[in-house]
Amino acid sequence: MDELQTVLIVDDVRTNNLVMAQCLKGLYQIREASNGHDCLREARRYPLPSLILLDVIMPVLDGYEVCRLLKSDPVTADIPVIFVTAKDADEDEQKGLELGAVDYITKPIRPAIVRARVSTHVQLKQHRDKLQFMALHDQLTGLYNRRYFQESAEQRLAKVCRNTSHLSVVMIDVDHFKKINDEHGHDKGDMVLQQLAALLKANTRREDVVARIGGEEFVILMDCALEAATYRSQRLLHLIVDMCPAGLKISCSLGVVQANAKHPDFSYWLKRADQAVYQAKSRGRNCVVVAGDETSVLLEEPSL
Ligand code: GH3
Ligand code: MG
Ligand code: MG
Repeated sequence: MDELQTVLIVDDVRTNNLVMAQCLKGLYQIREASNGHDCLREARRYPLPSLILLDVIMPVLDGYEVCRLLKSDPVTADIPVIFVTAKDADEDEQKGLELGAVDYITKPIRPAIVRARVSTHVQLKQHRDKLQFMALHDQLTGLYNRRYFQESAEQRLAKVCRNTSHLSVVMIDVDHFKKINDEHGHDKGDMVLQQLAALLKANTRREDVVARIGGEEFVILMDCALEAATYRSQRLLHLIVDMCPAGLKISCSLGVVQANAKHPDFSYWLKRADQAVYQAKSRGRNCVVVAGDETSVLLEEPSL
């Protein structure tokens, strides 16, 4: 059974929280907050709530202000907010909706109505999350797709240009993959790609971006300098050769490049990594090639 979605209930009057919690009991994982500051803290805690039921009149930080702060924080901006309040003038409702709330419920609450509205908005949120996941991930491997990769690469390169971080790009292409499909079937080929993807994910850091950008082409963005990226690429190649996905021996050709501010357009660096892969292929495959800073490409000895 699916895990229950989390709903955060916020009201400074304890009885109100209890009534609301009772109304949603068993349907959701309930978390409670009794003031605006607690709400902001709870809203950022994982698992993030799928919905926030927010009282408007509270001391210190009122519901409108809390909603504004939630919507301006990228972590909490996508959590739907429903105002729950004794205020029922049209302008109050309008103000709430203008601040980004999805709905408005007036007190005293009617449990059946609350359950119906909460259910609608939790379901809408789940659909939105699913669509967003599909838009940014590769269906076969679950890794990030080319679109997400492209966006985060550009953001990371902008940081490099501001001198606030390093960025290395590692491109990985499976050797003779067509032969695997031809000799063992497309399904086996798919299994190889899935297991390779899992290996890459398991052996990279949380802050790295691992993406599948073509049929049997993967890329990793690492926020480290060339030396570390090269070392890590060689280690990955050893792991790949030892893995035998779907019982088959495979190898890959890897190209590594460190981006810098001289070329603020990421496509340049992707091309350099691609050229390094091409050189690895012509060197006999199963090796890592490091692309130099400018036009020269230094060849790394195969590490196996
Ligand atoms: P090289 O060592 O030069 O990279 O040779 P290669 O055979 O790996 O490269 P090539 O680009 O000729 O072939 C890639 C193959 O990958 C061809 C295509 O049918 C296969 N492929 C692309 N996407 C998928 C996929 O999703 N699943 C499977 N099973 N195969 C795929
Ligand atoms: Mg290829
Ligand atoms: Mg290939």
